[in-house]
Amino acid sequence: MITEEIKVIGFDADDTLWVNEPYYKEAETAFIRLVSAYGVERDAAAVLYETEMANLELYGYGIKAFMLSLVECAIRLTKGTVTSDTIAKILGIGKEMLQRPIELLEDVKPVLEKLSPRYRLIVATKGDLLDQERKMTRSGITAYFHHIEVMSDKKKKNYMQLLHHLDIIPREFLMIGNSMKSDILPPLKLGAYAIHVPYHTTWAHEEVDEEPGAERFHRVEKLKDILKLIPPVSVR
Ligand SMILES: [Mg+2]
Repeated sequence: MITEEIKVIGFDADDTLWVNEPYYKEAETAFIRLVSAYGVERDAAAVLYETEMANLELYGYGIKAFMLSLVECAIRLTKGTVTSDTIAKILGIGKEMLQRPIELLEDVKPVLEKLSPRYRLIVATKGDLLDQERKMTRSGITAYFHHIEVMSDKKKKNYMQLLHHLDIIPREFLMIGNSMKSDILPPLKLGAYAIHVPYHTTWAHEEVDEEPGAERFHRVEKLKDILKLIPPVSVR
């Protein structure tokens, strides 16, 4: 059980509050279709992943970084023969992703409605600042949150900074998200609480084998089940 020490609850955004990874998978499929017209011999998905990983440190996360990797990958896969017309189509895939309507996941609104009067809720997400802010505005759930924290990464040190800004100690923080690697393991290592809400699709980069043994760790099947784990009255 999660104790009544909790003051702030952090929610991951992508694939926790709204659909995200399936859009990347769709974009990848459209990209592979475009480059396969060039008679590409290599495994396009593998080369794309390799390109994204190589660019991660320079570009960070998000759709714009993904678009640059798509273009670079197209050049590599076609050995430089990719046409400007195809490049324009690749950019179009990314622009379409940036403009997609927000699809909230099941139970998001009722859960936030229950928790927001009792706890300080924040969104803690990676990705591109402009894109995440735009998604937040379009989502219609901004009012439930104290603020949105767009983090350059979600490692232990990033969470330490976050808790410092929030002026709370780890045991006063609960993080909820779909990625064990980004949302669950780092906060647990700091001494915070974490609830894993798995999503059916996970980006390879977010996959880990580690299974935490900490008492502060929980896993639920559906987002609404988190309400059973969180004390009804907070001390905030
Ligand atoms: Mg996520």
